Amino acid sequence: MAFWLCRTRESTLANLEEGEDKGIASHMLISKSKYIAGTQCLKRFYLLVHEPELAAQPDESDQAIIGQGQEVGLLARQMFPGGVVVDCKDRDEAIRATRELLANPEVPAIFEGAFEYQSVFVRVDILHRRHDKRWRLIEVKSTTEPKDHHLDDVAIQHRVVSRSGVDLAASCLAHVNREYVHGEQIDARRFFKIRNLTNRVKRAQREVAVQLRSEFRVLEMPEAPSIPAGRQCTDPVTCEFFDHCNPPIPDDHILRLPRIHANTVARLVADGVESIHDIPKNYPLTGRLRRACNCVQTGQPWFDADLKRELGKLKYPLYFADFETVYPAIPRFTGMRPYDHIPFQWSVHVLRQPSAEPEHFEFLATDANDPRYDFVSALCDALGDCGSIVVYNQQFESQRLSDLASWLPEFSGRINKLQRRLWDLLPIIRDHVYHPRFAGSYSLKSVLPALVPDMTYDGMEVADGQAAGIAWESLIGGDCREAECQRKRKALLDYCGQDTLGMVRLLEHLRSLPF
Ligand code: SF4
Repeated sequence: MAFWLCRTRESTLANLEEGEDKGIASHMLISKSKYIAGTQCLKRFYLLVHEPELAAQPDESDQAIIGQGQEVGLLARQMFPGGVVVDCKDRDEAIRATRELLANPEVPAIFEGAFEYQSVFVRVDILHRRHDKRWRLIEVKSTTEPKDHHLDDVAIQHRVVSRSGVDLAASCLAHVNREYVHGEQIDARRFFKIRNLTNRVKRAQREVAVQLRSEFRVLEMPEAPSIPAGRQCTDPVTCEFFDHCNPPIPDDHILRLPRIHANTVARLVADGVESIHDIPKNYPLTGRLRRACNCVQTGQPWFDADLKRELGKLKYPLYFADFETVYPAIPRFTGMRPYDHIPFQWSVHVLRQPSAEPEHFEFLATDANDPRYDFVSALCDALGDCGSIVVYNQQFESQRLSDLASWLPEFSGRINKLQRRLWDLLPIIRDHVYHPRFAGSYSLKSVLPALVPDMTYDGMEVADGQAAGIAWESLIGGDCREAECQRKRKALLDYCGQDTLGMVRLLEHLRSLPF
């Protein structure tokens, strides 16, 4: 299936290390994505080819990430006006169509060009015909920096395309430019940074050949290679076979200790300790780990006596605030950069005095227009001029407020005052409280049901920030019917309201403790 155009097969092959290509092939064709999976873990590669039914199906969040990658890919094409897409699904047809486009000097760029060489099939995001008639291969990524594993991606494409006879002058990676600021319209040329990886890719060719040999050998094995689960299961991406290879850990497993260091885990495992219950009383642990260990071993929560003093710093009226955001790769509104957060929802509960009933205020943007002005304007009104503003993980809310101040300077004075009133409940819990049911996590989703059992997130249609973002995108995307929109609106309001009411109840609980 290999072919060649322009000058070249001989000149391209002349660059190869002697014998590098010999014996690399298989009766099975593998795709670029499978090859890349194999660079992460050969077992992953084997399972993808032979037992794909064991893979977890992509969930809504995976699909959202895939969708975003596709949007970025489409935007990248705008850098090459007149480029032609190879949109045939059939492999052989796609290869044929690519060959015709390569041979047509009128075509300035090819998108999704298809190539096959020695049992590897790739589709190339962009092939750009340079002025000197040679070609530039560009892989598009939606990350803001090149990552090490991107080199594998470009290197395998370089191998297949160059050995198919295309005169490749350069192999590059286009990634998102985080410094790009959205003006009237998205300018694709400034949105992307293109890095020339040609030299690194050429140097990597010997490793590619070695990797391919390993992969083709693994393909012939009667069963998956015996590779223990480890760091590779989530690095550089979470493997689709994670649940298959990593059985759920029990509640008393040492990995359920908060922020336990990998070295401590390794030391405990080497000493034959995997259950928190088996950790000896005199085993050297940090103060935080020891407290958590004691809680699990005794089944009793721990509350530090200093908690009362910390809670005494709060000033009424108390405001409990939580924001929801989405952070698209392609900014939507003026002044925003890639991955800036669009704040679309807030909830505020207010306790005017210690025994008062909480009042509730909320905001939810319900269309695709820029929500920032309405968000911050209503928020400033709801949060008044004095009193502590209780949040869970101050860094998040404070950064969102700083973003808003930079986009809408007319609010910067008021926002600055709000920031000075923020009071973070997270470090208070982290440093003064532990409950065996935290299971090593200080997230509100773990802490709240452990300390206030009637406030769980179980059964909520929207039960975390990521789900909130997905629900909101679908709500404003205009692709749901009115009844469904109403349901999503309610689910979003319930979720954000639960976070702030949860903080009210959490604080009530902590204050009710007998110190
Ligand atoms: S979960 Fe880990 S060990 Fe299992 S296939 Fe994936 S990367 Fe390999």
